[in-house]
Amino acid sequence: MDKFFTQKYCDRCGGDLADGRTMSMFNTDCICKKCKQAEMERKDYKLACEEEKKAVEKGVKNYSGIGYKP
Ligand SMILES: [Zn+2]
Repeated sequence: MDKFFTQKYCDRCGGDLADGRTMSMFNTDCICKKCKQAEMERKDYKLACEEEKKAVEKGVKNYSGIGYKP
């Protein structure tokens, strides 16, 4: 099975993923809801969404995001 669905801990903060998991908008990290919330509050979140949309429109498979800069 995909590591994304089997890993127990958040790639970013190491927190438990029991409460839910999601893919980062910035890279391919599997992150917890708290980290997702933090991403959404970043000022470059909109840019990350736009770049992802462009990649999808171009038919890019497995787009890995603009990169996460802490
Ligand atoms: Zn986390």
